[in-house]
Amino acid sequence: VTIQSTRPTRGRPLPAPRIPEWEVSTMPKIITELPGPNARAYLEKSKKYEPQSMSDQVPLVWDRAEGCVIWDVDGNEFLDWSSGVLVTNVGHCHPYYVEQVKDQCDKLFNCYDFLTQPRADLAEKLVQVAPDHLDRAFLVTTGTDATEAAMRMCRRAHEGFEIISFHGAFHGRTYGAASAAGSRGTKNGFGPMMTGFLHTPFPYFYRCPFGSETEEECGNKCIEFLDWTVERESCGALCAVITEPYQGGAGSIMAPKGFFETLDKWCKEKGIYFIFDEVQSSFGRTGKMFAMEHYDIKPDLVTLGKGLGSGVPCSAVLGTSAIMDVLPPGSMGSTNGGNPLSSRAALAAIDIIQKEGLVENAARMGELFKQRFEAIQQKHEQLGDIRGMGLVWGLEMVKDKASKEPDADFTRRIVLNAFHRGLCMIAPIGLYKNVLRVAPPLIITEQQVHETCDIFEAAFEEALIS
Ligand code: PLP
Repeated sequence: VTIQSTRPTRGRPLPAPRIPEWEVSTMPKIITELPGPNARAYLEKSKKYEPQSMSDQVPLVWDRAEGCVIWDVDGNEFLDWSSGVLVTNVGHCHPYYVEQVKDQCDKLFNCYDFLTQPRADLAEKLVQVAPDHLDRAFLVTTGTDATEAAMRMCRRAHEGFEIISFHGAFHGRTYGAASAAGSRGTKNGFGPMMTGFLHTPFPYFYRCPFGSETEEECGNKCIEFLDWTVERESCGALCAVITEPYQGGAGSIMAPKGFFETLDKWCKEKGIYFIFDEVQSSFGRTGKMFAMEHYDIKPDLVTLGKGLGSGVPCSAVLGTSAIMDVLPPGSMGSTNGGNPLSSRAALAAIDIIQKEGLVENAARMGELFKQRFEAIQQKHEQLGDIRGMGLVWGLEMVKDKASKEPDADFTRRIVLNAFHRGLCMIAPIGLYKNVLRVAPPLIITEQQVHETCDIFEAAFEEALIS
């Protein structure tokens, strides 16, 4: 569904002119109808020359961005709750990041898989920041590349080939990654998927497939069902389980306490590998450097992307030498993987995250968001469930709390209203397209948390009446 509107802006008073300085927070400023004339021209051009399969976002045509502020091609100013789909963890165009990338542009862009200093430095840095048992880093470009690489490594290092994943999971859009996915979204109409994948329920407590009364029961039932799935479907050739730490695309679904610890143990008992897909959840997003640090687990492979490059595409698989050293030279590589530009960008991003305390900021600001969302939930029937940690939140919208009937129209109206008020939100997600995702850059300030929540609340209340 394309969210399109040419509705003029409401009579909201314009804020004082923005002081164009780093880290100075102001309310957004809308100076044209939305989309403005330049934006409309680009939207037309895109319609003419691009497949429209890519996006169902609001018609915001980005021009530039700084920190948590975005300007569109008409000079309208927005605050960002998207981080460009959970990518720009360090904020848009952070000065140090820009400086490091520019410096690399003067030196070298690509040399295929010949070694460079930035690639070696990044591999070292990743192993240093990762939990101790992970001692190798393999660099690629997209999150999907990382998923594919991790699954290929498991199959190469293990005699089995079957991979278990979860209903609702998203791991990317190539055939291997889509086969691992546990929802129709990336499969529908694309023909048969690959064999060798088994799917089993993820503990989505708000809509527990087993009707559980407590989160703990929901988690336990899903673990019990794993054995059922294996007994019925496996040919005795299991090699790995892959899961996200929280299911992003399925609606920011958080697993109950203890679930991953039990799953990790289950994998170890079965003698199979545990792949933790941290493409979205790593580099401070959840209030820890890696989401795995919230749990007492030791995944064998961890996929990284998005926030790793924080803008310039970069992804990686972190793993154990026991698995990765099985791969002989030339058996896995890529044209752009670990290229010097991506590696420099990722090194700069990790530096910023560490030096500016962004992991801690994400945890602190996350608590503020939670309080604000809970206050809205207490007032309104339509905010059914709030799920999240750090700076990734899912707000599930329903007709009323008792029925839990999903309300996709209401959800879409909020995103559109927020856009008209100067807040950039990602299009609704989840099986029923009734979940709003809140994922601002990790540099967001307390003032910006409150400003954006004020805008969101107004957009929510406006959606109740229109
Ligand atoms: N895995 C997870 C958990 C993701 O959220 C995504 C992207 O949203 C991917 C994999 C795929 O990453 P990319 O779009 O960079 O290929």
